[in-house]
Amino acid sequence: MTEPDIPYGLQNVSTADIEAVVEVLRSAYLTQGPVGPAFERAVADYCGVPHAVATNSATSALHIACMALGLGPNDLLWTVPNTFVASANCARFCGAEVDFVDIDPRTRNISLPALQDKLKAAQRNGRLPKIVVPVAFSGLACPMAEIRALSDEYAFRIIEDASHAIGGRYRQQMIGCGEWADVTIFSFHPVKIITTGEGGMAVTRNTELAARMARLRSHGITRDPDLMDGEIDGPWHYQMIELGWNYRMTDIQAALGLSQLQRIDEFVARRSALADRYDLLLADSGLILPPRDPDCASSWHLYAIGWNEERSGLSRHDAFLQLHRAGILVNVHYIPVHLQPYYRRLGFTPGQFPHAENYYAGTLSLPLYSSLSLAQQDRVVATLHGLLGQ
Ligand SMILES: *Cc1c(COP(=O)(O)O)cnc(C)c1O
Repeated sequence: MTEPDIPYGLQNVSTADIEAVVEVLRSAYLTQGPVGPAFERAVADYCGVPHAVATNSATSALHIACMALGLGPNDLLWTVPNTFVASANCARFCGAEVDFVDIDPRTRNISLPALQDKLKAAQRNGRLPKIVVPVAFSGLACPMAEIRALSDEYAFRIIEDASHAIGGRYRQQMIGCGEWADVTIFSFHPVKIITTGEGGMAVTRNTELAARMARLRSHGITRDPDLMDGEIDGPWHYQMIELGWNYRMTDIQAALGLSQLQRIDEFVARRSALADRYDLLLADSGLILPPRDPDCASSWHLYAIGWNEERSGLSRHDAFLQLHRAGILVNVHYIPVHLQPYYRRLGFTPGQFPHAENYYAGTLSLPLYSSLSLAQQDRVVATLHGLLGQ
């Protein structure tokens, strides 16, 4: 009898989660009711930040964060190649240009020296970025204090893409606390730490930014008389004062998120314990294991290893295939964004960001999720040892 496949990531939905969703389905409001704001409040309180704006995806949260920060044609946004395409695409939605900063090969996050050098060169050329998007890859925070200092020196704004990282900490504070980034973005896609099916959130300390993002999420419409032009026709009156979108999260989704949030610390603790156990069981494997950082407590979205081709005599490509054949559904994060055909057409070429490209060439994301059993983890480890001839 073959055992069931082990995916690289999986949501954890409880009976209480299902009941919370059903309760909304039986209520008066499927969307724009009381549960959306309650979920926003709960995430804001969890992160220790004043404002949260829920959206229908992290991608739309990135878009309205860029719009609220005034990103437009002729502006420049920088991010890393080792991310999901959305971290860069948000600039293109606004008609702005994208450029990339290479990663630190150890942390797999933005390289501070590369950022410093690129900022110096950009200042000389008069082409500084308006926004920098550091990505907390795998749940590990970027060096946010140093990036904040650079943002003050070079006058750029920071959107932290923490799609992987809700529940993680940096310098004893929750990721999303608003101390370093202008806006922090979370994703609630099912493979992420908590889920709403599809969904995202932007959190910030900045009251004006939060109000602007909330407006852009809903067509650019306001009901605030102070913001309206001319006479107010009556109590029904609203005005569309800028161009926005319908990026709202439904109350059905928010109910799932609010219920999931009750268990987030349990989820992160379990992921962290499984990561510690992978470290222990793979210590002598010759694989490159994920980085640790004394400034950070990772939320452990991913456990991404570097494959050892010499030790196994197998390429990463063949290791991927053999693991899949054994029912271990490892994945690869990430194909460097600048190598996507769309970005190549904008002029990016292989070799421009060597650390991101080298990292991509060898990486595999092992199964990691809160309901992964120790027996399943043992099966992953035994299969890896088998491939490595151990
Ligand atoms: C998942 C992810 C996104 C996009 O999230 P959605 O909610 O699917 O739009 C953006 N950035 C990173 C780094 C991600 O992992």
